[in-house]
Amino acid sequence: MGMVIDAKIPGGNVIVHLVTENEAVLEPDLRDTAEKWFYWKFKVGFDKPGMYSFRFVNGAAIGTRGPAVSADNGLSWEWLGREASQQEETFSFECAEAGLERWFCVCIPYMQPEWERFIAVMPTDSITVSTLCHSRKGRAVECLTIGSPNASKRILVTSRHHAQESMATFSLEGFIREIAEHPESHADTFVFAVPFVDKDGVENGDQGKRRMPHDHGRDYVDEPLYTETRAIKEKIMEHRFNLAIDMHCPWLRGYPYNETMYFVGPSDPGESEITERFSRLLEEESTPDAPHFAADDLPYGVAWNTASNYSEGRPQGAWMREHCDWHPARIGAEIPFANFRDLTIMPENAMNLGRAFARAAARFLALPIAPGRQ
Ligand SMILES: [Zn+2]
Repeated sequence: MGMVIDAKIPGGNVIVHLVTENEAVLEPDLRDTAEKWFYWKFKVGFDKPGMYSFRFVNGAAIGTRGPAVSADNGLSWEWLGREASQQEETFSFECAEAGLERWFCVCIPYMQPEWERFIAVMPTDSITVSTLCHSRKGRAVECLTIGSPNASKRILVTSRHHAQESMATFSLEGFIREIAEHPESHADTFVFAVPFVDKDGVENGDQGKRRMPHDHGRDYVDEPLYTETRAIKEKIMEHRFNLAIDMHCPWLRGYPYNETMYFVGPSDPGESEITERFSRLLEEESTPDAPHFAADDLPYGVAWNTASNYSEGRPQGAWMREHCDWHPARIGAEIPFANFRDLTIMPENAMNLGRAFARAAARFLALPIAPGRQ
């Protein structure tokens, strides 16, 4: 046999075109995605030692640090490395002994088990965990709060409007940890966090991005398709957040806009000044293991950040601008999957970036000209 490929694992996703003794030809399963995208995850059982190769067809499928690999059924992950994927869209794995099993994924996953392990180590008096709503498939959609809703500084933080963007959720976790662990630096602050906006997509292993007819990131319309976006809209109106940070991951690879951390400039010039202010604070607060440079930001009208990118529906920020009469600040962040330039990103790095976001948010909301303070 050689190897057996199986996508029946949490978040599993792959189409197997061909398997021989030591080579597989594969493709990400797009499901209801409108364009070519790159999320995949599967496990492999190896019957005998040897060199195995995995080749993806029909588009980009391997990031800058090779695939992520887990030897403990998805509990922990590391990058297999660039040297394991010398040829584009192909990675190789050396199996040292018969009977090995490995999980492989295009990115380092962050799903419900990771969230539950995080929650379990937090002091129960520092956070409140509850359910935002139930997904269309009936899953409980997690949310978490810190502090009192009556606080003068109220922050909404979200990730996974696009299901596969896992590194963003490590940053969201870092954001929560920083505020929960340092209440003295975050007095009079209320945080409302939604880690998995597309809950079903995360658990089912969907691409999530450009889901037809539109994805969760474009569902801030009058009649949302998804229960999660409908619930978040209600929370925005209930809590009148001063600051909304929506964390994403960019495309798979390529400098500059997929291998640096950057902010997505809004279309309104007055609003872009707010993003620039936040970005400069993050540049000061970010640490060498997860740096941010404001010069890397993506202004509106450049690269993919144009009107055509928003033609399928309305993103959270645009909806807030039209409906929130208290003028909250809205920040869209892109956190790469595997590297910031030469720096390899692991979950710890992404978490430290999230911590820097929290410190920047505190300084941002303490500015006398901060928006939405009332
Ligand atoms: Zn996204």
